[in-house]
Amino acid sequence: MNGFCVECGKETDSTINGLCMECFLKDRTLITLPDHVDLYVCTNCEQFFWHGEWRSMDREAAAVAAAREALSCIKEGKVVSTSPSVSYLDDYNLSVTLACRVQIGDVVADAIAATVVRVKNTVCRICSRRLGNYYEAILQIRTSEKTLSKDLQDEVLARVEKSVDEAMATDDNVFITKMEIVPGGVDVYLSLIAVGRALTKELSEAYCADTNESAKLVGQSRDGLDVYRVNYLVRLPEFHVGDIVIFRKHYYLLARVSSQGGKLIALSGFRETSVKRQDMSEIKVYCKAADIGTADVITVSDGEVQVMDPSNYSMVDLLVPRDAEIGEKVRIVRIEEVLYFVP
Ligand SMILES: [Zn+2]
Ligand SMILES: [Zn+2]
Repeated sequence: MNGFCVECGKETDSTINGLCMECFLKDRTLITLPDHVDLYVCTNCEQFFWHGEWRSMDREAAAVAAAREALSCIKEGKVVSTSPSVSYLDDYNLSVTLACRVQIGDVVADAIAATVVRVKNTVCRICSRRLGNYYEAILQIRTSEKTLSKDLQDEVLARVEKSVDEAMATDDNVFITKMEIVPGGVDVYLSLIAVGRALTKELSEAYCADTNESAKLVGQSRDGLDVYRVNYLVRLPEFHVGDIVIFRKHYYLLARVSSQGGKLIALSGFRETSVKRQDMSEIKVYCKAADIGTADVITVSDGEVQVMDPSNYSMVDLLVPRDAEIGEKVRIVRIEEVLYFVP
């Protein structure tokens, strides 16, 4: 031993500021909390502002987190564990006590501090945008027919909602402000231009839809940047995957579409044909997917099935693809009084 305490004179090797541990700890406040800590809650989504962002937290957990943030410890020590206790003074004021273990050198000491966490009502930025009907983009879904059918409208909107839900999972700024049925289609108001752009691309891919966009300057942001609102027009074609279509005088099943074009399967012979995007406008719908009929299968043989024609109960032989799996019913379409198997 060659060290000693300047206060009590005890010989020791571990001194802090010249004091032995006992003298150092005597009457010393190791941790402190301010008299009160403000905690902000969004009255709309009930999320708490913590660490620079809005989070879903239980009120007591948020109060403890806020108190812990405000906790300070003497520079010689480090808080190694905290056990909190919370009691409500009223709905908006919580008394939080933090019992801590503080490490100083190789000694661990107990310390306690308390504060009042005051919960303050506010509205988070995202809710204020939602409540204010904020939008940056309008996705205008239209059809090349007179009206957008209810089925197609539901299908497209389900797709839009699913994509927006996925985007919301990683970005709170994403939301649908509103949807409006308008003559010939539906308008979807979106919080972000990027979401409008992504949905336009997705719908173009999924339906081989024509798209168009136009931006309008609507003002300036608080920091002086130009603010645009973008209209994305998505015009859904008359044809749709699963429809029986006519292309250059032949009948096909429309098997697939993308922004590049489509894939057709001939009803006679079942050969596949690709159609380029620029030729897709030549496609005419013969029978909508929903209107394709069925017939009961009587017998199955290689490359052929015998079915009962539902219109006159006669037996009809239909050619089928070699690899077709045939159940009790097959899908059929009638073209110029002849029945065809729909793959
Ligand atoms: Zn001492
Ligand atoms: Zn909110």
